[in-house]
Amino acid sequence: MCNKVLSGKNAVVTGASRGIGRAIALKLAELGANVILNYRSSAKSVEEVVKAIEEKGVKALAVQGDVSNFEDAKKIIDSAIENFGSIDILVNNAGITKDGLLMRMKEEDFDKVIEVNLKGVFNCTRHATPIMMKQRSGRIINISSVVGITGNAGQTNYAAAKAGIIGFTKSTAKEIAARGITVNAIAPGFIQTDMTEALSDKVKETIKTIIPLRKMGTPEDVAEATAFLASPMASYITGQVISIDGGMHM
Ligand code: NAD
Repeated sequence: MCNKVLSGKNAVVTGASRGIGRAIALKLAELGANVILNYRSSAKSVEEVVKAIEEKGVKALAVQGDVSNFEDAKKIIDSAIENFGSIDILVNNAGITKDGLLMRMKEEDFDKVIEVNLKGVFNCTRHATPIMMKQRSGRIINISSVVGITGNAGQTNYAAAKAGIIGFTKSTAKEIAARGITVNAIAPGFIQTDMTEALSDKVKETIKTIIPLRKMGTPEDVAEATAFLASPMASYITGQVISIDGGMHM
């Protein structure tokens, strides 16, 4: 992608202290965007990302907040306006897993995953859209999952939240397209991060056999697609789900 294609744009990335969120924040900054990095508790890790971004010659600011909390989400979005003057790109990336078979899943583990992974996307989007609608421009990119498309044993809560993100993305895209705002989702497959590090080596080897490209993806693979959707090159794409999964789901 051409250098500094996002120059002058202001972005918010949720859950940006590590993994995919971190890679997305770094990529948007590399392309010229100023970035608000939301984090929940890892202040030290996020400050390292802030430093790395500032070294690229753009502005970065860490903002603590739990995306599942409506008021925290407002604080996160408002920080972009207060510090940078606009919000041009919102990447709803924050997410958690609390896996377990349905027969044994606790009610609180179902609720928590829905609250963070799905309600968190609603919360941040709800606060960002009035601003983007007034601007008559904006890009929203929601991080779903291959599991939201195919389902996965042991992840009823996570799959329901990630499938919910897809319905939410398409509905929001239809509501606000006329105001020049695009809303898309990315469905990563198995990506090497702390989230998948928890899987056993045996599971990881089995996973590779079901991926046509025969390897797990990297956070940078997801960041590249996110940057594309945030860029002028994707201005005629909305309401879509882009799979970044080595061909797992076709
Ligand atoms: P990760 O666990 O490394 O990072 C998730 C980030 O979200 C962390 O920084 C965490 O602190 C933050 N977070 C969690 N709850 C939060 C909350 N309530 N408020 C604010 N921040 C919160 O995981 P990752 O692999 O980088 O995942 C990033 C996103 O990609 C998630 O939405 C995940 O579901 C999705 N995803 C990951 C994979 C994968 O294979 N790693 C595959 C498909 C989708």
